[in-house]
Amino acid sequence: PSEFRGKHVTVAGLGVSGVPAAKVLHGLGAHVTVVNDGDDDRARAQAAELRALGVTVRLGDGDTLPEGTELIVTAPGWQPGKPLFQAAEKAGVPVWGDVELAWRLRGPDAAPWLCVTGTNGKTTTVQMLASILKAAGLRTAAVGNIGVSLLDAVLGEETYDVLAVELSSYQLHWAPSLRAHSAAVLNLAPDHLDWHGSMEAYAADKGRVYEGNRVACVYNVADKATEDLVREADVEEGCRAIGFTLGAPGPSQLGVVDGILVDRAFVEDRQRNAQELAEVSDITPPAPHNIANALAAAALARAYGVPAKAVRDGLRSFTPDAHRIAHVADVDGVAYIDDSKATNTHAAEASLAAYESIVWIAGGLAKGATFDELVAKSAPRLRGAVLIGADRALIRDALVRHAPEVPVVDLDRTDTGAMLQAVQEARRLARPGDTVLLAPACASMDMFTNYNKRGDAFAEAVRELGAR
Ligand code: ADP
Repeated sequence: PSEFRGKHVTVAGLGVSGVPAAKVLHGLGAHVTVVNDGDDDRARAQAAELRALGVTVRLGDGDTLPEGTELIVTAPGWQPGKPLFQAAEKAGVPVWGDVELAWRLRGPDAAPWLCVTGTNGKTTTVQMLASILKAAGLRTAAVGNIGVSLLDAVLGEETYDVLAVELSSYQLHWAPSLRAHSAAVLNLAPDHLDWHGSMEAYAADKGRVYEGNRVACVYNVADKATEDLVREADVEEGCRAIGFTLGAPGPSQLGVVDGILVDRAFVEDRQRNAQELAEVSDITPPAPHNIANALAAAALARAYGVPAKAVRDGLRSFTPDAHRIAHVADVDGVAYIDDSKATNTHAAEASLAAYESIVWIAGGLAKGATFDELVAKSAPRLRGAVLIGADRALIRDALVRHAPEVPVVDLDRTDTGAMLQAVQEARRLARPGDTVLLAPACASMDMFTNYNKRGDAFAEAVRELGAR
């Protein structure tokens, strides 16, 4: 940390990562300048807080490289093509993200990191992993987008044995020297391509999580792209490739046999070639994609040496976060499920695959996605669909192409009240035994502040139905 004393560091972006990064660097004696594109009320309030400490803040200009900058620490969401980074490259100034900063600031006896990335399932898997590690009596935390921040985990009062770290593709892009104990890539589907520029660039950033791993690179047997990333990674000698599968596991894999999670990679009893870990019914919800998340979490925990019993106890005591396949209520024999967190087509496909006869509520901001594959695969399960939000026409057109017999209600509105009408329309389409599933396959920001608010609106609408 003494390397930061007197150093001229530019922090790119205020917000959840920039403000704490600026404070920490300032505390280490660096000359900190924060540059920020926006100049709104929130930015001004954050700027005032930092200026009071003696940090320089430039609002409304995130693209001019401050004179004398020796290092940039960027918010993960800032795009690599931004003029600021072009200027940095020309001037030979390194760029780190918040993860790289935390990695560099960790102490000599710091807790190792077990890392999780992937297009979908990161938060759930990291929380399952933390739950398993806790059940093993280890001091740990789920670190990342929700829960403890990486900087707090590394610099805070609390001491940890091991950390369960969620990493986005953006964060990995800006974390060149990160070396995990073990890491998992859960799956790879097109997402955030507008940021990364191409699927190849996106995959390459995800693959960074395996770079330099010491014990295990965990991949998804059903998603060959994740296995390819392991093969391409440069790892420490002795580091193993460990697969997880919903089928029977091969050697060096974890999988499922007759409803039981089985480990053939880390076997305690050498007389046997497999170790039973837990039952599928120990997992909430027991949807296929969530069993995959549990297997990935188990693989990382086992790589760290956690015994089988702790895997079972940790999975049993785990409850998922809100808006992730949450059962809201049953009304007139119809189940209402909130998966507002299904903000892309890959996630929506997973949750649609978990039910038999579905009235699907979908729509929002498509982020450049196409819906043909999702709709074609899910069509046999659809009783009907209700579409809301800005890009609903894209989904409607896909339904017309691949599921012409499915009744569709196209709500031509993007106001917040549309959710109540959507739920009422869904109820009309549903029959007893059906599931009304909010799995929008889109981002929420056209209608709501975030996916939490969208899920809350759905739950409230369902409660109104039930009350009538
Ligand atoms: P992330 O942190 O990667 O966004 P979450 O655990 O919050 O992932 O889950 C987001 C959504 O993705 C869930 O609501 C669910 O619809 C879907 N999902 C979760 N796990 C998987 C998986 N393994 N494969 C595909 N979709 C998944």
